[in-house]
Amino acid sequence: MTKFCSVISELVSRDNILVLGHVMPDGDDISSVASLTEGLRRIGKNVRAGIDSVIPSYYKLFFAVNSIETFEQLCGFQPDLIVVVDCSSPDRVGRFQSLLRTARLIVIDHHETNLMFGDLNLIDIKSASTAQMVYNINKAIGITYDSELATTNYLGIATDTGFFKYSNTDATVLKIAAELVELGAKPYFVASVILENKTIEQLKLLARMIDHTVIEEKLAYSWLSYEDYSTLGCTEDDSSGFVSELRSIKSVEVAILFSEYPKGEVHVSFRSKQWLNVSKIAAALGGGGHARAAGCSYKNADIKRVMDEVLKLTREALVGSEYEVGQIPQANL
Ligand code: 5GP
Ligand code: MN
Repeated sequence: MTKFCSVISELVSRDNILVLGHVMPDGDDISSVASLTEGLRRIGKNVRAGIDSVIPSYYKLFFAVNSIETFEQLCGFQPDLIVVVDCSSPDRVGRFQSLLRTARLIVIDHHETNLMFGDLNLIDIKSASTAQMVYNINKAIGITYDSELATTNYLGIATDTGFFKYSNTDATVLKIAAELVELGAKPYFVASVILENKTIEQLKLLARMIDHTVIEEKLAYSWLSYEDYSTLGCTEDDSSGFVSELRSIKSVEVAILFSEYPKGEVHVSFRSKQWLNVSKIAAALGGGGHARAAGCSYKNADIKRVMDEVLKLTREALVGSEYEVGQIPQANL
Protein backbone atom coordinates (compact mmCIF):
# COMPACT_ATOMS: atom_id res chain seq x y z
CA MET A 1 0.00 0.00 0.00
CA THR A 2 1.37 3.48 -0.82
CA LYS A 3 1.83 5.99 1.98
CA PHE A 4 -0.99 8.04 0.49
CA CYS A 5 -3.36 5.04 0.72
CA SER A 6 -2.19 4.29 4.28
CA VAL A 7 -3.00 7.87 5.30
CA ILE A 8 -6.46 7.63 3.72
CA SER A 9 -7.21 4.31 5.43
CA GLU A 10 -6.07 5.63 8.84
CA LEU A 11 -8.14 8.79 8.49
CA VAL A 12 -11.20 6.79 7.54
CA SER A 13 -10.78 4.21 10.29
CA ARG A 14 -10.22 6.55 13.30
CA ASP A 15 -13.03 8.43 15.01
CA ASN A 16 -11.48 11.05 17.29
CA ILE A 17 -8.96 13.11 15.39
CA LEU A 18 -6.88 16.17 16.29
CA VAL A 19 -5.50 18.22 13.38
CA LEU A 20 -2.59 20.55 14.23
CA GLY A 21 -0.81 23.35 12.39
CA HIS A 22 2.25 25.43 13.19
CA VAL A 23 3.02 28.49 15.30
CA MET A 24 2.98 31.80 13.39
CA PRO A 25 0.63 30.18 10.88
CA ASP A 26 0.61 31.23 7.23
CA GLY A 27 -2.14 30.86 4.64
CA ASP A 28 -1.09 27.35 3.64
CA ASP A 29 -1.06 26.12 7.21
CA ILE A 30 -4.44 27.63 8.11
CA SER A 31 -5.98 26.43 4.87
CA SER A 32 -4.61 22.90 5.37
CA VAL A 33 -5.80 22.63 8.97
CA ALA A 34 -9.26 24.02 8.21
CA SER A 35 -9.78 22.05 4.97
CA LEU A 36 -8.70 18.70 6.41
CA THR A 37 -10.73 19.24 9.58
CA GLU A 38 -13.85 20.24 7.66
CA GLY A 39 -13.41 17.38 5.18
CA LEU A 40 -13.23 14.79 7.96
CA ARG A 41 -16.22 16.36 9.71
CA ARG A 42 -18.19 15.88 6.51
CA ILE A 43 -17.73 12.11 6.82
CA GLY A 44 -18.92 12.15 10.42
CA LYS A 45 -15.62 12.18 12.33
CA ASN A 46 -15.22 13.86 15.69
CA VAL A 47 -12.43 16.23 14.63
CA ARG A 48 -10.92 19.16 16.45
CA ALA A 49 -8.23 21.50 15.19
CA GLY A 50 -5.51 23.44 16.99
CA ILE A 51 -2.88 26.10 16.35
CA ASP A 52 -0.78 27.44 19.23
CA SER A 53 -0.67 31.07 18.01
CA VAL A 54 -3.08 33.89 17.48
CA ILE A 55 -4.60 33.53 14.00
CA PRO A 56 -4.54 36.89 12.15
CA SER A 57 -8.12 38.19 12.01
CA TYR A 58 -8.40 38.35 8.20
CA TYR A 59 -8.01 34.56 7.99
CA LYS A 60 -11.19 34.26 10.07
CA LEU A 61 -13.13 35.42 7.01
CA PHE A 62 -12.49 31.95 5.58
CA PHE A 63 -14.92 29.15 6.28
CA ALA A 64 -13.94 26.65 9.02
CA VAL A 65 -11.05 28.78 10.30
CA ASN A 66 -13.14 29.94 13.25
CA SER A 67 -13.33 26.39 14.55
CA ILE A 68 -9.53 26.19 15.06
CA GLU A 69 -8.95 26.11 18.83
CA THR A 70 -6.21 27.12 21.26
CA PHE A 71 -3.95 24.87 23.31
CA GLU A 72 -5.94 25.71 26.45
CA GLN A 73 -9.22 24.69 24.78
CA LEU A 74 -7.80 21.41 23.51
CA CYS A 75 -5.58 20.07 26.27
CA GLY A 76 -8.42 17.89 27.70
CA PHE A 77 -9.20 16.29 24.30
CA GLN A 78 -8.04 12.68 23.90
CA PRO A 79 -7.79 11.85 20.22
CA ASP A 80 -6.92 8.41 18.87
CA LEU A 81 -5.17 10.04 15.91
CA ILE A 82 -3.20 13.29 15.62
CA VAL A 83 -2.52 14.74 12.16
CA VAL A 84 0.16 17.44 11.95
CA VAL A 85 0.13 19.49 8.74
CA ASP A 86 2.73 21.81 7.14
CA CYS A 87 5.27 21.28 9.97
CA SER A 88 8.82 20.17 9.27
CA SER A 89 9.71 19.51 12.91
CA PRO A 90 7.75 18.66 16.08
CA ASP A 91 8.58 21.98 17.80
CA ARG A 92 6.58 23.77 15.09
CA VAL A 93 3.30 22.83 16.83
CA GLY A 94 4.32 24.89 19.89
CA ARG A 95 2.92 23.62 23.21
CA PHE A 96 0.99 20.85 21.41
CA GLN A 97 4.35 19.08 21.14
CA SER A 98 3.70 17.58 24.60
CA LEU A 99 0.64 15.75 23.18
CA LEU A 100 2.27 14.28 20.08
CA ARG A 101 3.26 10.99 21.71
CA THR A 102 -0.18 10.40 23.27
CA ALA A 103 -1.79 9.05 20.07
CA ARG A 104 -0.96 7.65 16.66
CA LEU A 105 0.73 10.45 14.69
CA ILE A 106 0.48 11.28 10.98
CA VAL A 107 2.58 14.07 9.44
CA ILE A 108 1.46 15.63 6.15
CA ASP A 109 3.97 18.14 4.76
CA HIS A 110 5.87 19.46 1.75
CA HIS A 111 9.07 20.86 3.35
CA GLU A 112 12.32 19.27 2.21
CA THR A 113 13.72 19.71 5.73
CA ASN A 114 10.97 17.51 7.28
CA LEU A 115 12.33 15.39 10.14
CA MET A 116 9.81 12.55 9.60
CA PHE A 117 8.68 12.67 13.21
CA GLY A 118 5.35 10.88 12.72
CA ASP A 119 4.41 7.18 12.87
CA LEU A 120 3.37 7.72 9.28
CA ASN A 121 4.90 10.56 7.23
CA LEU A 122 3.36 11.72 3.98
CA ILE A 123 5.99 14.17 2.71
CA ASP A 124 5.82 15.44 -0.86
CA ILE A 125 8.50 18.04 -1.49
CA LYS A 126 7.29 18.40 -5.08
CA SER A 127 3.94 19.64 -3.83
CA ALA A 128 3.79 23.44 -3.91
CA SER A 129 1.60 23.57 -0.81
CA THR A 130 0.33 21.32 1.95
CA ALA A 131 -3.16 22.52 1.01
CA GLN A 132 -2.69 20.80 -2.36
CA MET A 133 -1.91 17.52 -0.55
CA VAL A 134 -5.00 18.00 1.63
CA TYR A 135 -7.12 18.53 -1.47
CA ASN A 136 -5.85 15.25 -2.93
CA ILE A 137 -6.63 13.48 0.34
CA ASN A 138 -10.14 14.93 0.62
CA LYS A 139 -10.77 14.05 -3.01
CA ALA A 140 -9.60 10.44 -2.49
CA ILE A 141 -11.87 10.11 0.55
CA GLY A 142 -14.79 11.44 -1.51
CA ILE A 143 -15.46 14.64 0.47
CA THR A 144 -18.16 16.84 -1.03
CA TYR A 145 -16.85 20.35 -1.77
CA ASP A 146 -19.05 23.42 -1.75
CA SER A 147 -18.01 26.97 -2.52
CA GLU A 148 -16.95 27.68 1.09
CA LEU A 149 -14.69 24.64 1.52
CA ALA A 150 -13.27 25.13 -1.99
CA THR A 151 -12.33 28.74 -1.16
CA THR A 152 -10.70 27.75 2.14
CA ASN A 153 -8.70 25.02 0.38
CA TYR A 154 -7.75 27.35 -2.50
CA LEU A 155 -6.34 29.86 0.03
CA GLY A 156 -3.26 27.73 0.81
CA ILE A 157 -2.60 26.88 -2.82
CA ALA A 158 -2.68 30.57 -3.75
CA THR A 159 -0.59 31.87 -0.82
CA ASP A 160 2.19 29.24 -0.95
CA THR A 161 2.71 29.90 -4.66
CA GLY A 162 2.70 33.69 -4.20
CA PHE A 163 -0.57 33.74 -6.14
CA PHE A 164 0.80 31.49 -8.87
CA LYS A 165 4.09 33.26 -9.53
CA TYR A 166 6.78 31.41 -7.51
CA SER A 167 8.98 28.72 -9.02
CA ASN A 168 6.81 26.01 -7.41
CA THR A 169 3.88 26.94 -9.69
CA ASP A 170 3.49 24.05 -12.12
CA ALA A 171 0.74 22.52 -14.23
CA THR A 172 -0.54 20.46 -11.28
CA VAL A 173 -0.96 23.61 -9.16
CA LEU A 174 -2.93 25.33 -11.91
CA LYS A 175 -5.05 22.22 -12.61
CA ILE A 176 -5.95 21.82 -8.94
CA ALA A 177 -6.67 25.54 -8.60
CA ALA A 178 -8.94 25.28 -11.65
CA GLU A 179 -10.73 22.27 -10.13
CA LEU A 180 -11.32 24.22 -6.94
CA VAL A 181 -12.64 27.20 -8.89
CA GLU A 182 -15.02 24.82 -10.69
CA LEU A 183 -16.13 23.64 -7.25
CA GLY A 184 -16.91 27.25 -6.31
CA ALA A 185 -13.64 28.72 -4.94
CA LYS A 186 -13.50 32.51 -5.27
CA PRO A 187 -10.00 33.63 -6.41
CA TYR A 188 -10.86 37.31 -6.26
CA PHE A 189 -12.12 37.01 -2.68
CA VAL A 190 -8.89 35.25 -1.61
CA ALA A 191 -6.67 37.79 -3.38
CA SER A 192 -8.61 40.70 -1.98
CA VAL A 193 -8.55 39.45 1.63
CA ILE A 194 -4.85 38.58 1.54
CA LEU A 195 -3.39 41.26 -0.71
CA GLU A 196 -5.70 44.27 -0.45
CA ASN A 197 -6.38 44.40 3.24
CA LYS A 198 -3.39 46.36 4.53
CA THR A 199 -3.42 49.00 7.24
CA ILE A 200 -1.57 52.31 6.90
CA GLU A 201 0.60 51.21 9.85
CA GLN A 202 1.68 48.16 7.82
CA LEU A 203 2.73 50.41 4.96
CA LYS A 204 4.68 52.60 7.41
CA LEU A 205 6.36 49.45 8.76
CA LEU A 206 7.25 48.51 5.18
CA ALA A 207 8.77 51.98 4.74
CA ARG A 208 10.98 51.34 7.79
CA MET A 209 12.07 48.00 6.41
CA ILE A 210 12.97 49.65 3.10
CA ASP A 211 14.89 52.38 4.98
CA HIS A 212 16.93 49.76 6.83
CA THR A 213 17.77 47.77 3.70
CA VAL A 214 21.38 46.94 2.90
CA ILE A 215 22.36 45.56 -0.50
CA GLU A 216 25.58 43.62 -1.04
CA GLU A 217 25.29 42.62 -4.70
CA LYS A 218 23.40 39.31 -4.59
CA LEU A 219 22.38 39.73 -0.94
CA ALA A 220 19.73 42.14 0.33
CA TYR A 221 18.83 42.23 3.99
CA SER A 222 16.87 44.37 6.37
CA TRP A 223 15.57 44.33 9.92
CA LEU A 224 12.65 45.44 12.04
CA SER A 225 13.22 45.84 15.76
CA TYR A 226 10.62 45.40 18.47
CA GLU A 227 10.59 49.20 18.76
CA ASP A 228 9.73 49.50 15.04
CA TYR A 229 6.71 47.25 15.57
CA SER A 230 5.60 48.72 18.88
CA THR A 231 5.87 52.39 17.95
CA LEU A 232 3.59 51.73 14.96
CA GLY A 233 1.21 49.52 16.97
CA CYS A 234 2.12 46.57 14.71
CA THR A 235 2.82 42.88 15.43
CA GLU A 236 4.92 40.28 13.57
CA ASP A 237 1.91 39.38 11.39
CA ASP A 238 2.00 42.87 9.90
CA SER A 239 5.34 42.21 8.19
CA SER A 240 4.27 38.96 6.54
CA GLY A 241 5.34 39.03 2.89
CA PHE A 242 7.81 41.92 3.34
CA VAL A 243 10.85 39.76 2.59
CA SER A 244 9.53 39.23 -0.96
CA GLU A 245 9.98 42.96 -1.56
CA LEU A 246 13.68 42.55 -0.78
CA ARG A 247 13.95 39.59 -3.15
CA SER A 248 12.29 41.63 -5.90
CA ILE A 249 15.34 43.91 -6.12
CA LYS A 250 17.30 43.58 -9.36
CA SER A 251 20.54 41.55 -9.02
CA VAL A 252 19.52 40.08 -5.67
CA GLU A 253 19.69 36.31 -5.31
CA VAL A 254 19.03 36.03 -1.59
CA ALA A 255 16.94 38.24 0.67
CA ILE A 256 16.78 38.10 4.45
CA LEU A 257 14.49 39.90 6.87
CA PHE A 258 15.27 39.89 10.59
CA SER A 259 12.21 40.69 12.68
CA GLU A 260 12.18 41.05 16.43
CA TYR A 261 8.73 40.47 17.90
CA PRO A 262 8.09 40.25 20.81
CA LYS A 263 11.17 41.73 22.48
CA GLY A 264 14.10 39.29 22.40
CA GLU A 265 12.49 36.89 19.88
CA VAL A 266 13.99 37.15 16.44
CA HIS A 267 12.51 35.51 13.35
CA VAL A 268 14.69 35.19 10.26
CA SER A 269 12.98 34.89 6.86
CA PHE A 270 15.03 33.80 3.86
CA ARG A 271 14.02 34.00 0.22
CA SER A 272 16.09 33.17 -2.85
CA LYS A 273 15.43 33.87 -6.49
CA GLN A 274 17.06 31.25 -8.68
CA TRP A 275 19.62 28.92 -7.23
CA LEU A 276 20.70 29.31 -3.59
CA ASN A 277 19.08 26.64 -1.40
CA VAL A 278 18.18 28.73 1.65
CA SER A 279 16.55 25.78 3.45
CA LYS A 280 20.08 24.47 4.08
CA ILE A 281 21.11 27.70 5.81
CA ALA A 282 17.88 27.79 7.86
CA ALA A 283 18.23 24.12 8.82
CA ALA A 284 21.84 24.70 9.95
CA LEU A 285 20.44 27.35 12.30
CA GLY A 286 17.72 25.12 13.76
CA GLY A 287 14.93 26.12 11.35
CA GLY A 288 13.81 24.78 8.00
CA GLY A 289 11.69 25.34 4.93
CA HIS A 290 12.07 25.13 1.18
CA ALA A 291 14.86 25.86 -1.31
CA ARG A 292 13.38 29.29 -2.12
CA ALA A 293 11.69 30.17 1.20
CA ALA A 294 12.90 29.21 4.64
CA GLY A 295 13.13 30.52 8.17
CA CYS A 296 14.46 30.07 11.66
CA SER A 297 13.73 31.61 15.04
CA TYR A 298 15.75 32.68 18.07
CA LYS A 299 14.57 33.20 21.66
CA ASN A 300 16.24 35.48 24.24
CA ALA A 301 18.32 36.89 21.44
CA ASP A 302 20.05 40.10 20.50
CA ILE A 303 19.01 41.03 16.95
CA LYS A 304 22.47 42.40 16.03
CA ARG A 305 24.17 39.14 17.10
CA VAL A 306 21.62 37.10 15.16
CA MET A 307 22.26 39.26 12.11
CA ASP A 308 26.02 38.77 12.38
CA GLU A 309 25.68 34.97 12.60
CA VAL A 310 23.14 34.59 9.82
CA LEU A 311 24.80 37.04 7.44
CA LYS A 312 28.18 35.33 7.89
CA LEU A 313 26.71 31.94 6.96
CA THR A 314 24.81 33.39 4.02
CA ARG A 315 27.82 35.24 2.62
CA GLU A 316 29.79 31.98 2.84
CA ALA A 317 27.03 30.14 0.99
CA LEU A 318 27.10 32.78 -1.76
CA VAL A 319 30.89 32.76 -2.14
CA GLY A 320 32.19 30.59 -4.92
CA SER A 321 28.78 30.43 -6.51
CA GLU A 322 29.44 33.02 -9.18
CA TYR A 323 27.53 32.30 -12.36
CA GLU A 324 26.48 33.87 -15.58
CA VAL A 325 22.78 34.32 -16.18
CA GLY A 326 21.72 31.19 -18.05
CA GLN A 327 24.30 29.09 -16.19
CA ILE A 328 22.46 28.50 -12.95
CA PRO A 329 24.23 25.96 -10.72
CA GLN A 330 22.07 22.83 -11.02
CA ALA A 331 23.06 21.25 -7.73
CA ASN A 332 21.33 23.96 -5.73
CA LEU A 333 18.06 24.07 -7.63
P1 5GP B 1 8.63 32.59 6.59
O1 5GP B 1 9.88 33.25 6.17
O2 5GP B 1 7.48 33.02 5.74
O3 5GP B 1 8.38 32.68 8.04
O4 5GP B 1 8.82 31.04 6.32
C1 5GP B 1 9.23 30.53 5.08
C2 5GP B 1 9.24 29.02 5.12
O5 5GP B 1 10.15 28.57 6.11
C3 5GP B 1 7.89 28.40 5.48
O6 5GP B 1 7.74 27.25 4.68
C4 5GP B 1 8.02 28.02 6.93
O7 5GP B 1 7.26 26.89 7.21
C5 5GP B 1 9.50 27.77 7.09
N1 5GP B 1 9.95 28.27 8.41
C6 5GP B 1 9.90 29.53 8.85
N2 5GP B 1 10.36 29.62 10.10
C7 5GP B 1 10.72 28.39 10.49
C8 5GP B 1 11.26 27.83 11.70
O8 5GP B 1 11.53 28.53 12.69
N3 5GP B 1 11.47 26.48 11.69
C9 5GP B 1 11.18 25.70 10.60
N4 5GP B 1 11.41 24.38 10.69
N5 5GP B 1 10.69 26.19 9.47
C10 5GP B 1 10.45 27.50 9.39
MN1 MN C 1 3.37 25.34 3.25
